[in-house]
Amino acid sequence: MKFLPGKNSNIVLPWTGVVLAGMLTSGLAAAFGPSDGERAVAETGAATAVAANHSLAAVNEAAKTSAKTSAKTSAKTGSTAKRTSAAEPDCDASRSKKAREFPNGRIPSRYLCSLPQAGHKLRADAALAFYKLNAAYKKHFGTDICVTSSYRPYSKQKQLYATMPSGMAARPGTSNHGWGRALDLCGGIQNDSSRQFKWMENHSKKYGWFHPAWAYSNPYEPWHWEYGSK
Ligand SMILES: [Zn+2]
Repeated sequence: MKFLPGKNSNIVLPWTGVVLAGMLTSGLAAAFGPSDGERAVAETGAATAVAANHSLAAVNEAAKTSAKTSAKTSAKTGSTAKRTSAAEPDCDASRSKKAREFPNGRIPSRYLCSLPQAGHKLRADAALAFYKLNAAYKKHFGTDICVTSSYRPYSKQKQLYATMPSGMAARPGTSNHGWGRALDLCGGIQNDSSRQFKWMENHSKKYGWFHPAWAYSNPYEPWHWEYGSK
């Protein structure tokens, strides 16, 4: 256990909420077992982490963006509904360049792109490729790809690192989730003997997505998938 309550809470007061959330959910994670731990923490802690982590300005901005999006959506549905709008949310490819100017886990929301999976975001290049991968998957299985974790802010990485068993979470500031180019998947993909996992192995590379070699064994994370090379 690398978590030192005194040390963390003294150094980083704004993260106290996140650390506390992590402490609350770590019991849950233990109950789910190590392989499900990350997901349990990710799901339960996500809302708290976002709330605790975002400054008022960021929250306001997020609200503005979502208001804009819903206005746009109703405009679309009002006229000729665009068939692709649900599967491929608006995502300006140029955001990807802008996103690279920020450190790991510090990318402002406006430079990321939303996935069809509610509440999940990725860097634009990874998101645009994922839309296509998701569409192919949906054509085959009849459902969207199930996502448990996507872009991961620094505070969230810190929380996971403190609460997950050693080796199960990346050192804060180094996670590919913090670059917005990694996803943790579910719906069968988290099990490497499933049809869903095999399909992903066979088809994801066409869309620039892959299951990294380390994730087959060290640590074993069949649910973890990445886009591109950096
Ligand atoms: Zn992951």
